[in-house]
Amino acid sequence: MSRFTLPRDIYYGPGALEELKVLQGHKKAMIFTGGSSMKRGGFLQKTEEVLKAAGLETALFEGIEPDPSIETVMKGAQAMREFEPDVIVAIGGGSPIDAAKAMWIFYEYPEKTFEDIKTPFTMPKLRNKAIFVAIPSTSGTASEVTAFSVITDYSSGIKYPLADFEITPDIAVLDTDIPLTMPPKLTAHTGIDALTHAIEAYVATARSDFSDALALKAIGDIFDNLVDSYHGDKEARGKMHIAQCLAGMAFSNALLGIAHSLAHKTGAVFHIPHGCCNAILLPYVIQYNSRVCMARYAAIARYLGLPGGTDKQLTDSLVKAICGLNKELNIEQTYAANGVSEELYKEHADAIAHNAVLDPCTLANPRPIDDAAMKEVLACAYYGKRVTF
Ligand code: NDP
Ligand code: MN
Repeated sequence: MSRFTLPRDIYYGPGALEELKVLQGHKKAMIFTGGSSMKRGGFLQKTEEVLKAAGLETALFEGIEPDPSIETVMKGAQAMREFEPDVIVAIGGGSPIDAAKAMWIFYEYPEKTFEDIKTPFTMPKLRNKAIFVAIPSTSGTASEVTAFSVITDYSSGIKYPLADFEITPDIAVLDTDIPLTMPPKLTAHTGIDALTHAIEAYVATARSDFSDALALKAIGDIFDNLVDSYHGDKEARGKMHIAQCLAGMAFSNALLGIAHSLAHKTGAVFHIPHGCCNAILLPYVIQYNSRVCMARYAAIARYLGLPGGTDKQLTDSLVKAICGLNKELNIEQTYAANGVSEELYKEHADAIAHNAVLDPCTLANPRPIDDAAMKEVLACAYYGKRVTF
């Protein structure tokens, strides 16, 4: 049997935050957010207002850091146990939404440890205590519709993608006013993250007709809108917010591949934002995978109207188009050019490659890979060499 899972309701468009009024009838909402961006934009206050007007008591947990830690998750779970919300509302980028998802697990199951929930698709049933509402403020991770939560273990420097359809939110609110406050660099990085989700989903081993349709549409819309969104075009910014969500619907079900495996392991060690890691890695990963799924990449290129007669030419065109997009977004195409010293890279390359092979995303990659080949792909992405093996 195959399964395709999404949130039950998605509210979208300018001012969609108002739709939080559908929570009327619930008693207590606990709101989770990052640093100050949601307060600065007035979105946090509006969230509280709408919930209060709908008759809910609210409490706030702020200060969730980018790339949230296990410690933050445990702190938030404790706060949930004290306030006892029946609705969890996460507003912000992927980081606060992911952190709140993980907190939710430990709220419902206080006796569980982080170790207990690491194995993908083995989570216990949630929703005994609360439902989950996600309001994304960046246009990239699509955590508002996905079965994932990425939590960092800073003691080992490893990012763990927790995965289970249990943590797919119940309600997603895509208020297209919120991403308007993103600075250009964040817009670029999160946008390429979304493109990587869609492209990896389109070739992943768990792909389906459902995910293919969503992934292709997302890829087309991202190519059409990301550069304009980066330059501040309002309409394009709104289109990107929807497109990244389509990509999320695809990859939540089709899973990802080794661009994400490597991004998860290089992000924390090299101190490069998640989306930027993907922007660097994606062309090299396509070259590596094309040995087994060139026709799929060619289909993407054809959908985008890129030049080429053969699958090989079309795949090369796709790689070229991605590098061109990165250039327009002012993202350098190698780790070296992004300021990672050769010393740091060499010190960690073996561990990164080994841990990336063990990352759950590797299981869905179309072409199998071992430690040595992973290290080679990483080397190509560090120095900017074409992957030819
Ligand atoms: P973050 O949530 O980490 O936020 C990055 C920064 O952007 C923060 O400083 C935040 O500020 C700021 N910010 C967020 N929204 C706005 C806005 N509208 N205007 C101005 N500033 C804003 O960024 P991402 O969304 O890129 O999330 C990245 C994380 O998500 C990584 O840990 C990654 O591994 C994970 N991820 C999760 C996936 C999933 O399926 N769950 C998929 C892919 C990645 P402030 O803190 O002040 O709000
Ligand atoms: Mn991602």
